[in-house]
Amino acid sequence: MAQVRELRCRECDRTYAVAPVHVCEFCFGPLEPVYDYDAIAASVTRAGIEAGPRTIWRYSPLLPIGDGVERVDLGTGCTPLIKADNLARELGIKHLYLKNDMANPTHSFKDRVVTVALTAARAMGFTTVACASTGNLANSVAAHAARVGLRAFVFIPADLEEAKIITTAVYGANVVAVKGNYDHVNRLCSEIAQTMPWGFLNVNLRPFYSEGSKTLAFEVVEQLGWEAPEHIVVPAASGSLLTKVHRGLSELHRVGLLDTEPATSIHLAQAEGCSPIVAAFRSGIDHIRPVKPQTIAKSLAIGNPADGYYAARVVRKTEGTAEAVSDDEIIAGIRLLASTEGLFTETAGGVTIAALKRMAAAGAFQDDGRVVALLTGMGLKTAEALSGRLGPTVEIQPDLEAFRQALDFLDLEGPA
Ligand SMILES: *Cc1c(COP(=O)(O)O)cnc(C)c1O
Ligand SMILES: [Zn+2]
Repeated sequence: MAQVRELRCRECDRTYAVAPVHVCEFCFGPLEPVYDYDAIAASVTRAGIEAGPRTIWRYSPLLPIGDGVERVDLGTGCTPLIKADNLARELGIKHLYLKNDMANPTHSFKDRVVTVALTAARAMGFTTVACASTGNLANSVAAHAARVGLRAFVFIPADLEEAKIITTAVYGANVVAVKGNYDHVNRLCSEIAQTMPWGFLNVNLRPFYSEGSKTLAFEVVEQLGWEAPEHIVVPAASGSLLTKVHRGLSELHRVGLLDTEPATSIHLAQAEGCSPIVAAFRSGIDHIRPVKPQTIAKSLAIGNPADGYYAARVVRKTEGTAEAVSDDEIIAGIRLLASTEGLFTETAGGVTIAALKRMAAAGAFQDDGRVVALLTGMGLKTAEALSGRLGPTVEIQPDLEAFRQALDFLDLEGPA
């Protein structure tokens, strides 16, 4: 792991040798990789990155794994950044872009963190990997582990969407359904991690795992012609993605890929039924009060978010905003996106679109800057959230006259 010198505690700055450890022994603060930015700045260039692979590994100088290590890679990254003019018009936003991370191999942004974490896990000699997951991480860990023959254990809340369980189990992973919510699952995993010699993505591998999220920021900047947008809207569960998007933007400046420190406002989206970070932000002191999740946005249902405090601070520091949206708004958000832009996102994406709508209405984008909303997961995995709400427009007998009659009742305003 050449370019990472050591791990450092985010709270007290104590440093640790690079190893599968994640909390500071002195203050229990989270550990993060420390890069030699001057050395990276001396060798990294925009042209060099552009000539790299069409995956997140084009940014390998800013990822915590050296070049000599064999990667666990299904082709994640370089997902489309779409100019969304129809949705923009609908919401009264001047310049709107959607980052379509549904295009990743297992259809969510989690592939970014998993390709990094499993590559690190193998480099450290682990033969079994494990994770606590709200669904998408489980999919991705199972798929990447299958690809390289790692044994995988994924722990999920037992009430997860059926599609997310099928799309994990199909890869042959051991799926452990825990009768409880994500916070119970996570606590159990912390205990197991102390007794088993496994690489747990969100426990001992967390400092490496979470670094993969930075690549979302890197790609957005590269796709905007090496310019940072004025706004990014990020859905939050543990808050890790949001804090890493911020860190990624700063690093681009630190290594000379951006001329100025980005002035991007980072906005946070959560579901009303699980919005401890929004509440912390609104309280003014960023202190997280755990909640019991109750929302259809199960991939965001973390009641005690590990990086919630840091996420709230990033939103405050960057002059972003935070919104919590109801289940009905989530459904409406999914349908609005689908009907305006032809993209079917999962419930977490519905949270993002619904929050985007509220933010626009509240004047958060009045500078007419570029707004990038992150679509982090795809709709087929949570289709059950829409069941009973959508169906055939009409049902008819198989004859022409029946169809003619039905047409009279249908909306004839559309194109002929
Ligand atoms: C995991 C996840 C997120 C964000 O997760 P963090 O824990 O905040 O990093 C966002 N969207 C989807 C679809 C996810 O699966
Ligand atoms: Zn510390």
